[in-house]
Amino acid sequence: MTRVLEISPRHPYGATVTDDRHENGNSVASLVPTADAFIMGCALRAGYAWPFCKLQFHLGQAGKGVDFSQFDSVTFDMRYAGEAGRKIRLHMTNFEPEFSTVGDWNSQRYNSVEFDAPAQATFTIPVNVVRTADWWITAHDVPLEKTYTRLDNVTALEISTGSVPPGQSITIDVRSIEFRGKWISKTRLLTWLVGAWIGCGLLGLSLSLLHVRSSLSATNARLELLAAVNKALQLEARDLANQAHTDPLTGALNRQGLREVLMKRLHVAGHVDEEMAVVFMDLDHFKRINDQHGHDAGDEVLRRFAAVIRGEIRSSDKLVRWGGEEFLLLSPETDVPHAVSMLDKLRAALAKQEWPQGLRVTSSFGVTSLKPEEDIGAAIKRADGALYLAKANGRNRVEIA
Ligand code: GH3
Ligand code: MG
Ligand code: MG
Repeated sequence: MTRVLEISPRHPYGATVTDDRHENGNSVASLVPTADAFIMGCALRAGYAWPFCKLQFHLGQAGKGVDFSQFDSVTFDMRYAGEAGRKIRLHMTNFEPEFSTVGDWNSQRYNSVEFDAPAQATFTIPVNVVRTADWWITAHDVPLEKTYTRLDNVTALEISTGSVPPGQSITIDVRSIEFRGKWISKTRLLTWLVGAWIGCGLLGLSLSLLHVRSSLSATNARLELLAAVNKALQLEARDLANQAHTDPLTGALNRQGLREVLMKRLHVAGHVDEEMAVVFMDLDHFKRINDQHGHDAGDEVLRRFAAVIRGEIRSSDKLVRWGGEEFLLLSPETDVPHAVSMLDKLRAALAKQEWPQGLRVTSSFGVTSLKPEEDIGAAIKRADGALYLAKANGRNRVEIA
């Protein structure tokens, strides 16, 4: 996580020395590079107003420097030997196109700090103690808001003698200068971590929301399925109940159905207290139909016969298959004359009906009236007697008991 920039004999960055003779001074700097150190000797002499010797490291050329803005500290391994005072200076020149021109050394922002060289060889100072030098701000008429320290394009670094009296010999022996900084600042790392944490939380939350939603819709689907199954079961139960009291061939009631109808009427009224027509009917010469045209044709005749009757009677009338080709019709609130006229219409409908294989089908009828409080069995017997009479009198007719 730490970035390091090292200046040492292993990474010399074009080390040179210079002195104040360019400024008409008399100081003389010399450089002895060895395998472990750059040794600058300095005969500091009066002459120039601010006499100096300095050791320079060239980090870049033609305005292309090194970005030092992410470095926090600089650790020196250097030894200072002098007769009076131990001041040294660190300079960092930053090339900025707004102020700097290639070839004019002093046009680069001059960042510097002066400090006492500590007695121990190795020491560390923070990078942010380096400040833009006042003389540079004045010389370039830099507006106040741009007097900040700027180190993003440093082309050279210098170790210079500081403000110490001239007339002495100074030796500065530099073994290494190490800049250190974090690749990621603590604040940024924390921001990222908190961001990632919140992101994971949100992701987890949305995933669990999705899960809840999908399990809800699965539950709904299951409930819908159960409701559908329930409905189908109810329909089936109703079908089974119907089958129990219905004749499957003709759809008429069977004897069990008749029993239930009678029970219901008794239950509602306490007893059967109204006049009701009871009709016994029997297809004529049905055996012949079976014999001549087959049992299936006979079945079809029975089916159509029941259908014709259903088309002629009221919804309150009950048609019962008594057995074979014999049917019973119960017609509530009907007296015998009305029953006879209804049966005449029925015989006409049978005559008009189309039958399998061009057959002609007729039926005989015996009618009676069920008196209030009378036993149904007696009425059926009477109707049967009338039916017998109808057969005897030539069939296809209605006889009254
Ligand atoms: P009648 O005019 O005197 O009533 O003569 P019939 O031939 O109709 O009377 P009979 O009682 O001699 O014959 C009834 C026939 O009905 C006998 C039986 O085989 C037939 N049969 C009874 N139930 C069914 C059925 O469900 N399907 C068919 N195809 N035939 C049936
Ligand atoms: Mg019969
Ligand atoms: Mg018959």
